[in-house]
Amino acid sequence: AKEQGRNTYCIYTPAINSRTSELLIIENSLHRALERGEFVVYYQPQVNTIAGEIIQMEALIRWQHPTLGFISPATFIPLAEETGLIVPIGEWVLRTACRQNKAWQDAGLPPIRIGVNLSARQFQQPNLVEMVAQILSDTGLNPQFLELEITESIAMQNAELTRSILMEFERMGVGIAMDDFGTGYSSLGYLKKFPFHTLKIDQSFVRDLITNPNDVAIITAIIALGQGLNLKVVAEGVETEQLKELLHTLECQHMQGYFFSRPLPASDATKLMGQARKK
Ligand code: C2E
Ligand code: CA
Ligand code: CA
Ligand code: CA
Repeated sequence: AKEQGRNTYCIYTPAINSRTSELLIIENSLHRALERGEFVVYYQPQVNTIAGEIIQMEALIRWQHPTLGFISPATFIPLAEETGLIVPIGEWVLRTACRQNKAWQDAGLPPIRIGVNLSARQFQQPNLVEMVAQILSDTGLNPQFLELEITESIAMQNAELTRSILMEFERMGVGIAMDDFGTGYSSLGYLKKFPFHTLKIDQSFVRDLITNPNDVAIITAIIALGQGLNLKVVAEGVETEQLKELLHTLECQHMQGYFFSRPLPASDATKLMGQARKK
């Protein structure tokens, strides 16, 4: 047993060290990634499955590192939040996404909303509302075609401040979605207090829907809640036709997930929108 313990020690220690040093390399190069043009925005459609239409696209950042290759947002977004780099990065995503949506409209495609994720750090910036207003004005995108996605933890951190910021977005005509709904310390009170337009059901409730009756109960309740509060409810992470059909029978009409499309680079997203129009 001692022998085994020593082996385990030998195997795992270098792995942990290399993991730590990889994170350090990532953090160092994160500072330069924006100016070096290493980020790209991908777009994933949100679909109204009854009308068979794309109603929205979610902007999702991608990082192509020159030596490490593709780095997932799940890895670098937390680092960007810790270091505060999420502020300039988030602003860049917002500008890129608004510009892209305006370009789609100018190309004559049916107008849709663009969804952009905001992080807690951005809510701590005193000029968040002005920054969004400035980008809308610079890009010429009508505010009604932008939806900002925020998580429950943002809403919780400083409820009064968050509420006043969200009310300003509401006055501007910008939509607000609660992202990853059900994963945080949700308080239903926030749904009443904050001007949300959309609830995005987290994919953890969607994934095992076919086999887990508890998830069916939870999703049924969220959909009823959304209908009662007049909110659009979107199921995230819909990967199969079977899931799509089950969600249908639960009266969920808005879905996002690999079954419809993976997040795509702008050119492919444009093609997809063109095809959807022809059908
Ligand atoms: P999120 O906002 O909840 O975005 C949805 C994530 O689910 C995306 O992962 C998307 O690619 C993935 N997804 C979509 N459909 C499916 C599916 O059918 N199955 C599975 N397994 N996954 C699916 P992604 O792009 O890796 O982003 C992860 C998270 O990183 C996002 O979660 C969001 O919290 C954050 N993120 C991404 N881009 C940005 C950004 O521009 N700003 C900020 N603040 N956060 C971002
Ligand atoms: Ca999101
Ligand atoms: Ca989500
Ligand atoms: Ca998430």
